[in-house]
Amino acid sequence: MQLVFATNNINKLREVQSLIPNHIKLLSLEEVGCYEDVPETQETIEGNAIQKATYIKEKYGYDCFADDTGLEVDILDGAPGVYSARYAGEQRSSEDNIQKILKNMDNATNRKAQFKTVIALEFKGNQHLFTGICKGEITHQKIGDHGFGYDPIFKAEGYDQTFAEISLEEKNKIGHRGKAVQLLINFLNSNA
Ligand code: IMP
Repeated sequence: MQLVFATNNINKLREVQSLIPNHIKLLSLEEVGCYEDVPETQETIEGNAIQKATYIKEKYGYDCFADDTGLEVDILDGAPGVYSARYAGEQRSSEDNIQKILKNMDNATNRKAQFKTVIALEFKGNQHLFTGICKGEITHQKIGDHGFGYDPIFKAEGYDQTFAEISLEEKNKIGHRGKAVQLLINFLNSNA
């Protein structure tokens, strides 16, 4: 059976392929002939994940899943949220995004935040959502140089180190994306 993972990130695709049942072959967007940008124009993380999965199902006919992730900061009313990639502008610079958050939280004592990943799956005529949340807090400055995006300013609950200081293996275990992927895998293991 074939299932499209609507991502251009080949590393994400390989990682998920290694964890799901052998009889499911994951296909990349390229492999189904999708070279255009898949639209993600919704105002919520859930909405974007659903939009991407539905687009592939409708246009290319394959069962499919897509993910979308955002960082939600309490004191910023959940921003940057669905706009995480382009919080500081269309140049999509992680450095600019981080600086904007730190500036907006300059005097904030409440530094609570969470990462949220939603995976939308179009499967055998039904739609399923899998959500992974990692709660934590925003640091006062950047620390660490692993990872990507907001990792240098995010500490998961119970951790003294930021996501940019811990190993990828550790991050996958406790992180938002790892949790959502695990829920997807559990579903596929018992339903596919
Ligand atoms: P995407 O939906 O996976 O493309 O994520 C959207 C944006 O959220 C990315 O461009 C990053 O800025 C941020 N982001 C997503 N996942 C992570 C993460 O694990 N660590 C830090 N930032 C992330």
